[in-house]
Amino acid sequence: MIKNSITGFPRIGKGRELKFALEAFWSGKIDEKELQKQAKELRLKNLQYQKEAKIELISSNDFSFYDGMLDTIALLGAIPQRFADIGDKTKQYFAMARGDDKRAAMEMTKWFNTNYHYIVPELSKSTRFSLNADKVINEYKEAKEFGVKTKINLIGAVTFLSLSKSVDKSGVYVHFEAVLNVYEQLLKEIAKLDERVFVQFDEPIIVTDLNGEQKEYLFKAYEKLSQVSPKIDIIVSSYFDHADKDVVEALASTDIWGIGLDFIHGKENLDNIKNLKGKYLIAGVVDGRNIWKNDINATLELLKKISLSAPEERIVVSTSCSLLHAPYSLENEDKIDAEVKSWLSFALEKLDEISLISKIFHKEPLSEKEKAMKDANAKALLARRNSSKIHNGDLQERLKTFTNTQRELPFNERIKVQKKILNYPALATTTIGSFPQTDELRALRSSFKKGKISKNEYESGIKKYIDACVKIQEDIGLDILVHGEPERNDMVEYFGEQLNGYAFTKEGWVQSYGSRCVKPPLLFGDITRINPMSVKWITYAQSKTSKVVKGMLTGPVTVLNWSFVRDDMPKSEVARQLALAFNDEITDLQNAGIKIIQVDEAAFKEGYPLRKSKKQIYEKWALEAFKLAVSSAKAQTQIHTHMCYSNFNDIIKTIEAMEADVISIETARAGNKILKIFEEVGYNQEIGPGIYDIHSPRIPSVDEMTKQIKALLEIFPKEKLWINPDCGLKTRKWDEVIPSLKNLVKAVKSVRES
Ligand code: GLN
Ligand code: ZN
Repeated sequence: MIKNSITGFPRIGKGRELKFALEAFWSGKIDEKELQKQAKELRLKNLQYQKEAKIELISSNDFSFYDGMLDTIALLGAIPQRFADIGDKTKQYFAMARGDDKRAAMEMTKWFNTNYHYIVPELSKSTRFSLNADKVINEYKEAKEFGVKTKINLIGAVTFLSLSKSVDKSGVYVHFEAVLNVYEQLLKEIAKLDERVFVQFDEPIIVTDLNGEQKEYLFKAYEKLSQVSPKIDIIVSSYFDHADKDVVEALASTDIWGIGLDFIHGKENLDNIKNLKGKYLIAGVVDGRNIWKNDINATLELLKKISLSAPEERIVVSTSCSLLHAPYSLENEDKIDAEVKSWLSFALEKLDEISLISKIFHKEPLSEKEKAMKDANAKALLARRNSSKIHNGDLQERLKTFTNTQRELPFNERIKVQKKILNYPALATTTIGSFPQTDELRALRSSFKKGKISKNEYESGIKKYIDACVKIQEDIGLDILVHGEPERNDMVEYFGEQLNGYAFTKEGWVQSYGSRCVKPPLLFGDITRINPMSVKWITYAQSKTSKVVKGMLTGPVTVLNWSFVRDDMPKSEVARQLALAFNDEITDLQNAGIKIIQVDEAAFKEGYPLRKSKKQIYEKWALEAFKLAVSSAKAQTQIHTHMCYSNFNDIIKTIEAMEADVISIETARAGNKILKIFEEVGYNQEIGPGIYDIHSPRIPSVDEMTKQIKALLEIFPKEKLWINPDCGLKTRKWDEVIPSLKNLVKAVKSVRES
């Protein structure tokens, strides 16, 4: 009988060791042997921790040098043609991920509704598949030698194909049989490893709205794979939302061993498990993607409910998804407020939670230490519920009075008032906010944080940067200026640090892609603004020029989506609290004479749920939050918003309803096709589709930008069109930015003249 399982464990290491090893390898500081050695140490550490916590199903092959989808591409031999001639496998692998001097990298995109990015497989008619099992087999053997018989994690065939792109439009499922054959061969190899081996196929695609074809492939895949060997026990694992009942039942009717379902983000799964036909249920009951201590008593209640439908002895207590999406460990968090810390649980701590819950649920005797842990858990949760740090009655009262979020005047009238005051020309030029973050600037901020320089020294350093930034924009001849965001290292953290209700970790890193990690701030309590957050810098910049300076804020929905958010209150309510803080900020900016304010919503789209049935609910509260934030803007104050992506097909009307006067969006990489949708659906407000890709160091020529502007004019009337880059310029260098923007202004001039 198996009692507990971990879906997967973070690979990056307690101190981001993998990141540093990878970067050292890429820059030639260490060789491949050293990289492999360090990776092995990390893997063994992960096994050790899970073993110590008495986890029964511990994964292998959850490790990756870059990404699990890329590993699957390598496993299946589905290498795109342009990388085929790279003989060295390691070079080939990293070239696919990062590109090299001859080849562009493969596309990367977000993994379901997380901030983790995977490499998108490129399939075509000519793709041939062949098995490369070394990584999978070696990691199993390595773990076995270490004393752990692992469950082998693989990405399932249907998820792999569903997330692939067909570069020649010949379709992805034409490869179904071929891919399945490789998996079959792989299972035959795995069957040689031991008398009994668990294999977990991750099929998160199950939690999206599947079509009939996909459902059929899922059934076919596991009907076939479950027959390969009696030595192999297959788990089909899903996470991030709920599955469809018919899919669960179809899978249960095959010879797989178990099904993994998420009961945290897919409560509906409770209705899907009445007919598991003797299959084990890997029950995701501890949230794998948050940072809060599990409420053990509540989880036991949930398990009890689950066991009304599924037999208790076949319920495996598990995380809701891989712990890849949680930070590694609380161990080094010595700076965070002790009270807040006592409410937290990262990946390592979640292991003990799983182990304890599994023991209690499966009626095993607890050790003294475990009993104490259970008591401590209840105590910490009670303390959290009653903590004065979390609740702010005044705020809650004040929020009740914000019932009307409509801005003054309808857009068509507002814009007339604004144009009279702001007096900008057709094809107005501007930027998205940030200018290059130089080493000097980073050093300045960090010295101030460490107390090495005084507040005065720090502020005069920031002002010097703003001075230069304003001067450069004036010289270039941009119409609407920005202050350049020198005071921010991050568009969420900067505001979080100035709000009550936020805490920050030292090492709470989560992998975003490859060696890149993010450290989301912790939103734990009611949100109130301590002081104005941006007014000082924006008004300083405005005092330095007669041109209009655009104020720059991050929007409430983005702040929320890029934070670890409290789980004791609906997100919709948290969003309202954040919105109120920005509402106040806008009032202050406006009173200080700022005429244009941009409210960035880079992560608005990211927050959309996976299931259609839940989208409307999100859309409603996200929209309300944005509207609440900007409702303090007077008719004459122009509100901009910015979104970092281009796929607006289904949300144009929502964006229109946000009540921003101008939106800037990313376009350069995706091409103008996507803009047609604005034309087709109809979009009433003004718009700035980015005309150059800021992700690349390349300087776009006047000629190419002129062409792009002309192409845009085919879609948008000139009075409504703004000209700007795709996104902020903080990752670029000054000597890339200045010539690029000069060319942009020249291009606009030439179009205006013609
Ligand atoms: N104003 C921000 C900047 O320019 C916007 C960044 C973003 O959307 N990611 O950096
Ligand atoms: Zn952007």
